[in-house]
Amino acid sequence: MSEIRINGDRLWAALMELAQIGATAKGGVKRLALTDLDKQGRDLVVGWGKAAGMSVTVDQIGNVFMRRDGTNNALPPVMTGSHIDTQPTGGKFDGNYGVLAGLEVVRTLNDLKIKTEAPIEVAFWTNEEGSRFVPVMMGSGVFCGAFSLETAYAANDTEGKTVGEELERIGYKGTQVPGDHPIGAYFETHIEQGPVLEDADKVIGVVPAVMGLSWYDCVVSGMEAHAGPTPMGLRKDALQVSTKIMQEVVAIANRYPPYGRGTVGMVQVFPNSRNVIPGEVKFSIDLRNVNDELLNTMHEEMLAFIDKTRGETGLKISIERVSYYPPCPFHPECVDAVRNATAELGYSTMDVVSGAGHDAIYAARLAPAGMIFVPCKDGISHNEIEDAKSEHLEAGCNVLLHAMLERARIV
Ligand SMILES: [Zn+2]
Repeated sequence: MSEIRINGDRLWAALMELAQIGATAKGGVKRLALTDLDKQGRDLVVGWGKAAGMSVTVDQIGNVFMRRDGTNNALPPVMTGSHIDTQPTGGKFDGNYGVLAGLEVVRTLNDLKIKTEAPIEVAFWTNEEGSRFVPVMMGSGVFCGAFSLETAYAANDTEGKTVGEELERIGYKGTQVPGDHPIGAYFETHIEQGPVLEDADKVIGVVPAVMGLSWYDCVVSGMEAHAGPTPMGLRKDALQVSTKIMQEVVAIANRYPPYGRGTVGMVQVFPNSRNVIPGEVKFSIDLRNVNDELLNTMHEEMLAFIDKTRGETGLKISIERVSYYPPCPFHPECVDAVRNATAELGYSTMDVVSGAGHDAIYAARLAPAGMIFVPCKDGISHNEIEDAKSEHLEAGCNVLLHAMLERARIV
């Protein structure tokens, strides 16, 4: 069994060919969801799937499922997948790797004339990136019932074009009702999008879970006044009070290692003038943890600190939670399938908790799911310089092959 291997050169060639569609001058890819370029990318991948003998189903939100029959087609398929839409300054590997690794698994099974008991499916989900249309992970979200098809159809881009219209226009508004498609198990290979594997010099990340996140908008209101005549004791400086909260966001995360995260990434200062005491500051807060209880404790500590700060300073401080995703632990059987395959193939490995969202989170609501990470250069993604080594991508794809075979069973 451990002799069975995918073709790493063929996987790399497919990645490079798909990356030509929407290629940017800096070596990245710009292929936003439901654009003409997305259609071209979809057509290319679907063509490859059909050439590999797979049948293709498209659902009403444009998710595409390419199927290789098993010997017992009454069994739900063992599925793998990801997305082929990219960020505006995206790379060649984020998402695309997960889809083309699945295709390479099927090509390998064909080459070796291996039959599986359960069918094998390769999926790509619509609008994972959420860059052109919000919310992110739209296709898999509709599929698992996290939000409705109507909500997704009505989402519009900055030019007012809607998801419903654009799906229709590019010919990917299918007929299958989203979710009306059984899944026996789901695996997703992905570049790590963080620096942990590279830093530890490991090839395969076994992903036990994805972190949960809580997003907030915070507004601190003080009083604008002249920077010279207003004595320090008589000020209502919204920025100084905001920086106390910002420091506490980081302190809270540091109190809950190793997976506590606290980030203030967006700040607006009004009136943003050199010699005016800031009257109002708006900023974002992003808290994460892999444990929901700890994430909730972090949430409570932040609210308590804001209450205390309000009391001490007398400034008006408002805080609103704008997004919440609970942590997503993956299914022990799928995590073990990845772990076993990695051990069998002899790759160096470690557990890596995902800090980023993936379609696998939504798939995990319907079926046992697991993920496989491979290193990416400097941990960078959502960037045109995103890069990964061919031998790492090959290793991840081999692990995917063996994990899927464990679930689908060779006949
Ligand atoms: Zn991705």
